[in-house]
Amino acid sequence: MSFDIQISDLRKSYGKIRALDGLNLQAVRGEMLGLIGPDGAGKTTTLRILCGLLDADSGDCFVNGKNVKTDLKEIHSFIGYMPQRFSLYPDLTVAENLRFFADLFNVPKKERENRLERLLHFSKLGPFSKRKAADLSGGMKQKLALSCTLIHTPKILFLDEPTTGVDPVSRREFWDILHELKSEGVTILITTPYMDEAAKCDRVAFIHNGRILTHGKPKDIPEMFHGQLFELKCSNPVRVAKLFQSGRGIDSVWIFGDRLHLSGPDIKGTKETITAVLHENDIQKYSLEKISASIEDVFVDLMK
Ligand code: ATP
Repeated sequence: MSFDIQISDLRKSYGKIRALDGLNLQAVRGEMLGLIGPDGAGKTTTLRILCGLLDADSGDCFVNGKNVKTDLKEIHSFIGYMPQRFSLYPDLTVAENLRFFADLFNVPKKERENRLERLLHFSKLGPFSKRKAADLSGGMKQKLALSCTLIHTPKILFLDEPTTGVDPVSRREFWDILHELKSEGVTILITTPYMDEAAKCDRVAFIHNGRILTHGKPKDIPEMFHGQLFELKCSNPVRVAKLFQSGRGIDSVWIFGDRLHLSGPDIKGTKETITAVLHENDIQKYSLEKISASIEDVFVDLMK
């Protein structure tokens, strides 16, 4: 098996803050690996070290078999990195931004216009090629940023929350591009706060406190949930959640938007406990349903 990304026992502290605490992670060639975790878990630090923008305190990183510590120049020739705040040039048009990045990456002159055309087509930005980057929508800006990242046809892509804040249509278009790249054999390491995006990856790795808690195929993740999960819909879920926090056979309770997710060791006992607590507190209007765990449920469960 050929690994495009190999990270072993990676450690990094910023003063007293331990950002990475022995992180291990691998991605095989052509894989789309989703790195998900809460704010401050160490995702950006990992990507920045892989791109050589930050030195690790210890540990090893190999990208396509090349060592980040010693072969950085070579690594830069075949990776693309799209940081959270990608710097487009607001006063340049879409096409001018692409040409600027083509210069930056020394794309040969004779290939430049072909690639530009392909990327404009790919990103559906062709009709806007003369529009200034400053005047693009959020989704278009992200697609342009990705196109600039792709100008030198990288084989390995590092994407840091590329669709955060992007509208659903642009998000779908963005993912169409990623699937196209994957079908061409590009290896993609992507961080995302969206669980529906995590589910589209070949594999998902959960990062917390600078370590990988677990990883697996999205379809296998729900099986990692320990216990039986129920969804409770009621008014004032924040107040109701507090009723379950003092033991009583409920393992965990967390608020999922306007509803509660509660777990316990077995179906019958957990259901009885929940209904008893609701009854004792005179809560009559609610709906309670046994549900399967989602990726997000497993993630919250693992972080406990
Ligand atoms: P987010 O999704 O919020 O960007 P993240 O998972 O990408 O989070 P990192 O940005 O890697 O996490 O941060 C990991 C930890 O290191 C956090 O506690 C963060 O506050 C800290 N950190 C990151 N960069 C620096 C820095 N330059 N100086 C000091 N602390 C930092």
